[in-house]
Amino acid sequence: MKNISKQFPTRVLKKSSCIIAGSALLLGLGLAPANAVGEGPNHNGNETVNTSILHTHESMAAELRKQDAKQSAMELEVIGHSAKGRELFLAKYLSDPANPTIMFLTQQHGNEQLTTEGALEVIKHLGTGRMAKVLEDVNILVVPMLNPDGAMGDVDFPLDDYIASGDRHLTRYNANNVDINRDHVAKTQPEIQALHNNVLSAYDIDYMIDLHHQGTRSAVDGKLVSGSILYPTTEDVSEEVREGSKRLGAVVYQNVDPTGWGHLGKYVGGTANTIARNGIAAEYGISTLLFEMRGMSDHYRSDYVLGQKSNGYLRQQTILTLESTIKAVADGSVETMDTSFWDSLPEQASLPGEENDE
Ligand SMILES: [Zn+2]
Repeated sequence: MKNISKQFPTRVLKKSSCIIAGSALLLGLGLAPANAVGEGPNHNGNETVNTSILHTHESMAAELRKQDAKQSAMELEVIGHSAKGRELFLAKYLSDPANPTIMFLTQQHGNEQLTTEGALEVIKHLGTGRMAKVLEDVNILVVPMLNPDGAMGDVDFPLDDYIASGDRHLTRYNANNVDINRDHVAKTQPEIQALHNNVLSAYDIDYMIDLHHQGTRSAVDGKLVSGSILYPTTEDVSEEVREGSKRLGAVVYQNVDPTGWGHLGKYVGGTANTIARNGIAAEYGISTLLFEMRGMSDHYRSDYVLGQKSNGYLRQQTILTLESTIKAVADGSVETMDTSFWDSLPEQASLPGEENDE
């Protein structure tokens, strides 16, 4: 969170020109970010993209330990280590084994960090009085920054063409250049082994949200989205599990979409069990939901990153997603959500060439 002044002017110049090119492309396709209100998704982020404002793995670890010391309901566990030896954390709130349990996973892709920033805020909020009553009725598991080596740019391949300024680059892949969200069947990577062995296999989890960031150009109804959601689409989950995911998605949709900045589409995702959304639902019977926030923290493609003016609403979107689902699981309202909105939720459309994030 420090060293904001430590920028590299040449990078800033290079990046700015790339982003302007991205805006021109948007305008050409009729997705003009006109009449942007506040910091909503129509803002195209053509200002500094600086990674120095983000938590480092070290500062995140310090914050987690500080909260662990302060909060009696919280327990912090190290569930394993990344390829480069960084600690992987689980923040636990286990009030009663009989309670339903919801889990949140962030930053399997190291360059998708605002989800982690939001999750850290939620952990702080859970230590305040206003969430104390909720904690009696729900168990919460938070795994923040599952790919810390990618988040810190400490990887065994070059990131020279990444465009954010700041004192580090962030990348999708782990140190071994593996997309760990394709490793949920083979489980070859230490980050995935820690998650499966020490979290997914170790707790009776009912719901899970896997938090990501996508590119900046996805739109629904001619308007850029703030994010997109999807339930498991593999054949290997029961309809009961899939319905639970759809109900969880309904909670998110009802809380996020009506906000001034919220505009959600349906993510277009594959059926492979190697992806957490599918594989974790299939293997453990957990009702999973994918949530993709708009815009990444760093990338070699300028149309994937989003400037700092969008950080506020994206962080808020994460906080609202986590806190609304925690409450809905705690009070049981998630059990009776109407899932019919999924039938009319439009699939987001991207400009040609945009790869899926998930
Ligand atoms: Zn991702």
